[in-house]
Amino acid sequence: MPTEAIPVWVGLGSNLGKPIAQIQRALAELADLPDTRLLRHSSLFRSPPMGPQDQPDFINAVALLETTLDAQALLRFLKQIEQLHERETTRHWGERTLDLDLLVYGASIVDEPGLTVPHPGIPQRAFVLYPLVEISPELEVPGFGPVTALLAALPLHAVARRLEDPE
Ligand code: ADP
Ligand code: MG
Repeated sequence: MPTEAIPVWVGLGSNLGKPIAQIQRALAELADLPDTRLLRHSSLFRSPPMGPQDQPDFINAVALLETTLDAQALLRFLKQIEQLHERETTRHWGERTLDLDLLVYGASIVDEPGLTVPHPGIPQRAFVLYPLVEISPELEVPGFGPVTALLAALPLHAVARRLEDPE
Protein backbone atom coordinates (compact mmCIF):
# COMPACT_ATOMS: atom_id res chain seq x y z
CA MET A 1 0.00 0.00 0.00
CA PRO A 2 1.42 3.38 -0.96
CA THR A 3 2.22 5.62 2.01
CA GLU A 4 1.81 8.86 0.07
CA ALA A 5 -1.57 10.00 -1.18
CA ILE A 6 -1.90 9.46 -4.92
CA PRO A 7 -4.11 11.67 -7.13
CA VAL A 8 -6.68 9.55 -8.92
CA TRP A 9 -9.30 10.39 -11.55
CA VAL A 10 -12.48 8.30 -11.67
CA GLY A 11 -15.07 8.42 -14.45
CA LEU A 12 -18.76 8.04 -13.59
CA GLY A 13 -21.56 7.17 -15.98
CA SER A 14 -25.25 6.24 -15.72
CA ASN A 15 -28.20 5.94 -18.09
CA LEU A 16 -30.77 4.06 -16.01
CA GLY A 17 -32.81 4.69 -12.88
CA LYS A 18 -32.62 8.50 -12.50
CA PRO A 19 -29.06 8.92 -13.80
CA ILE A 20 -28.43 12.35 -12.29
CA ALA A 21 -29.36 11.09 -8.81
CA GLN A 22 -27.21 7.95 -9.35
CA ILE A 23 -24.18 10.10 -10.16
CA GLN A 24 -24.75 12.44 -7.22
CA ARG A 25 -25.09 9.51 -4.83
CA ALA A 26 -21.98 7.87 -6.27
CA LEU A 27 -19.96 11.07 -5.71
CA ALA A 28 -20.98 11.00 -2.03
CA GLU A 29 -20.00 7.33 -1.83
CA LEU A 30 -16.59 8.06 -3.36
CA ALA A 31 -16.12 10.80 -0.75
CA ASP A 32 -16.81 8.20 1.97
CA LEU A 33 -14.24 5.62 0.82
CA PRO A 34 -11.61 4.69 3.42
CA ASP A 35 -8.15 6.29 3.14
CA THR A 36 -9.51 8.51 0.37
CA ARG A 37 -10.56 12.14 -0.06
CA LEU A 38 -12.74 13.59 -2.80
CA LEU A 39 -10.86 16.73 -3.89
CA ARG A 40 -13.27 17.95 -6.58
CA HIS A 41 -15.58 16.77 -9.31
CA SER A 42 -16.73 18.03 -12.69
CA SER A 43 -20.13 19.26 -13.80
CA LEU A 44 -22.49 16.64 -15.11
CA PHE A 45 -22.41 16.03 -18.86
CA ARG A 46 -24.94 14.39 -21.16
CA SER A 47 -23.69 12.25 -24.03
CA PRO A 48 -25.05 9.77 -26.56
CA PRO A 49 -24.44 6.07 -25.78
CA MET A 50 -21.48 4.19 -27.21
CA GLY A 51 -22.39 0.93 -28.88
CA PRO A 52 -26.10 0.05 -29.04
CA GLN A 53 -28.06 3.22 -29.90
CA ASP A 54 -31.45 1.99 -28.63
CA GLN A 55 -30.73 3.09 -25.05
CA PRO A 56 -30.98 6.42 -23.19
CA ASP A 57 -28.28 9.10 -23.23
CA PHE A 58 -25.68 8.85 -20.47
CA ILE A 59 -24.97 11.29 -17.69
CA ASN A 60 -21.21 11.44 -17.04
CA ALA A 61 -18.82 13.14 -14.67
CA VAL A 62 -15.22 12.82 -13.49
CA ALA A 63 -14.03 12.95 -9.86
CA LEU A 64 -10.55 13.74 -8.59
CA LEU A 65 -9.66 11.75 -5.47
CA GLU A 66 -6.58 11.46 -3.34
CA THR A 67 -5.99 8.02 -1.87
CA THR A 68 -3.48 5.80 -0.13
CA LEU A 69 -5.28 2.67 -1.42
CA ASP A 70 -3.40 0.81 -4.11
CA ALA A 71 -5.01 0.68 -7.56
CA GLN A 72 -6.42 -2.86 -7.23
CA ALA A 73 -7.92 -2.11 -3.80
CA LEU A 74 -9.47 1.08 -5.14
CA LEU A 75 -10.96 -0.79 -8.11
CA ARG A 76 -12.52 -3.32 -5.71
CA PHE A 77 -14.20 -0.45 -3.84
CA LEU A 78 -15.41 1.04 -7.13
CA LYS A 79 -17.01 -2.30 -8.01
CA GLN A 80 -18.64 -2.42 -4.55
CA ILE A 81 -20.17 1.00 -5.15
CA GLU A 82 -21.47 -0.19 -8.53
CA GLN A 83 -23.11 -3.12 -6.70
CA LEU A 84 -24.74 -0.73 -4.22
CA HIS A 85 -26.45 0.79 -7.25
CA GLU A 86 -27.80 -2.64 -8.18
CA ARG A 87 -25.81 -2.66 -11.31
CA GLU A 88 -26.63 -5.65 -13.45
CA THR A 89 -24.36 -6.68 -16.23
CA THR A 90 -26.27 -6.41 -19.47
CA ARG A 91 -24.92 -6.38 -22.99
CA HIS A 92 -21.49 -5.00 -23.86
CA TRP A 93 -21.60 -1.18 -23.80
CA GLY A 94 -25.23 -1.49 -22.78
CA GLU A 95 -27.33 0.48 -20.33
CA ARG A 96 -26.34 0.59 -16.65
CA THR A 97 -27.34 2.28 -13.41
CA LEU A 98 -23.72 3.07 -12.62
CA ASP A 99 -20.34 2.58 -14.26
CA LEU A 100 -17.18 3.62 -12.43
CA ASP A 101 -13.92 3.58 -14.35
CA LEU A 102 -10.48 4.09 -12.86
CA LEU A 103 -9.15 6.55 -15.44
CA VAL A 104 -5.78 7.66 -14.07
CA TYR A 105 -3.89 6.52 -10.96
CA GLY A 106 -1.06 8.99 -10.38
CA ALA A 107 1.80 8.40 -12.79
CA SER A 108 1.20 4.63 -12.84
CA ILE A 109 0.92 2.52 -15.94
CA VAL A 110 -0.73 -0.78 -14.99
CA ASP A 111 -1.56 -3.70 -17.24
CA GLU A 112 -2.77 -6.53 -15.06
CA PRO A 113 -5.61 -9.03 -15.39
CA GLY A 114 -8.75 -7.01 -14.63
CA LEU A 115 -7.02 -3.63 -14.45
CA THR A 116 -5.60 -1.44 -17.19
CA VAL A 117 -4.55 2.09 -16.14
CA PRO A 118 -4.70 4.68 -17.62
CA HIS A 119 -8.06 3.51 -18.92
CA PRO A 120 -7.48 2.72 -22.61
CA GLY A 121 -10.72 4.39 -23.72
CA ILE A 122 -9.65 7.88 -22.56
CA PRO A 123 -8.35 9.24 -25.90
CA GLN A 124 -11.54 8.35 -27.83
CA ARG A 125 -14.15 9.38 -25.26
CA ALA A 126 -15.61 12.88 -25.34
CA PHE A 127 -17.64 12.10 -22.19
CA VAL A 128 -14.36 11.53 -20.31
CA LEU A 129 -12.23 14.26 -21.87
CA TYR A 130 -14.64 17.20 -21.47
CA PRO A 131 -15.10 16.69 -17.70
CA LEU A 132 -11.39 15.83 -17.23
CA VAL A 133 -10.30 19.07 -18.88
CA GLU A 134 -12.86 21.00 -16.85
CA ILE A 135 -11.35 19.93 -13.50
CA SER A 136 -7.72 19.22 -14.45
CA PRO A 137 -6.63 21.10 -17.58
CA GLU A 138 -2.96 20.58 -16.67
CA LEU A 139 -3.25 16.80 -16.47
CA GLU A 140 -0.94 14.68 -18.58
CA VAL A 141 -2.33 11.19 -18.97
CA PRO A 142 0.57 8.75 -18.57
CA GLY A 143 1.36 7.23 -21.95
CA PHE A 144 -1.25 9.37 -23.78
CA GLY A 145 -0.18 13.00 -23.20
CA PRO A 146 -1.89 16.26 -22.19
CA VAL A 147 -5.68 16.05 -21.78
CA THR A 148 -6.08 19.30 -23.70
CA ALA A 149 -4.28 17.78 -26.72
CA LEU A 150 -6.42 14.63 -26.48
CA LEU A 151 -9.58 16.76 -26.43
CA ALA A 152 -8.39 18.83 -29.40
CA ALA A 153 -7.75 15.63 -31.37
CA LEU A 154 -11.32 14.31 -30.97
CA PRO A 155 -13.40 14.09 -34.12
CA LEU A 156 -15.77 17.03 -34.58
CA HIS A 157 -18.88 14.93 -34.06
CA ALA A 158 -17.84 13.79 -30.56
CA VAL A 159 -20.44 15.23 -28.17
CA ALA A 160 -20.57 15.78 -24.42
CA ARG A 161 -22.96 18.55 -23.42
CA ARG A 162 -22.56 20.18 -20.01
CA LEU A 163 -25.77 20.33 -17.98
CA GLU A 164 -26.29 23.87 -16.77
CA ASP A 165 -29.21 22.93 -14.56
CA PRO A 166 -29.43 19.31 -13.49
CA GLU A 167 -32.99 18.31 -14.39
P1 ADP B 1 -16.96 -1.04 -19.39
O1 ADP B 1 -16.76 -0.01 -18.32
O2 ADP B 1 -15.74 -1.22 -20.26
O3 ADP B 1 -18.20 -0.88 -20.19
P2 ADP B 1 -17.29 -2.88 -17.19
O4 ADP B 1 -17.60 -1.72 -16.32
O5 ADP B 1 -18.25 -4.03 -17.16
O6 ADP B 1 -17.13 -2.45 -18.70
O7 ADP B 1 -15.85 -3.35 -16.80
C1 ADP B 1 -15.38 -4.57 -17.24
C2 ADP B 1 -14.10 -4.88 -16.48
O8 ADP B 1 -13.10 -3.96 -16.81
C3 ADP B 1 -14.13 -4.86 -14.97
O9 ADP B 1 -14.42 -6.12 -14.46
C4 ADP B 1 -12.72 -4.44 -14.58
O10 ADP B 1 -12.01 -5.45 -13.92
C5 ADP B 1 -12.06 -4.16 -15.91
N1 ADP B 1 -11.18 -3.01 -15.90
C6 ADP B 1 -9.93 -2.99 -16.41
N2 ADP B 1 -9.37 -1.81 -16.26
C7 ADP B 1 -10.27 -1.01 -15.62
C8 ADP B 1 -10.25 0.33 -15.20
N3 ADP B 1 -9.16 1.11 -15.40
N4 ADP B 1 -11.35 0.82 -14.58
C9 ADP B 1 -12.44 0.04 -14.41
N5 ADP B 1 -12.53 -1.26 -14.79
C10 ADP B 1 -11.44 -1.78 -15.39
MG1 MG C 1 -16.57 0.14 -16.21
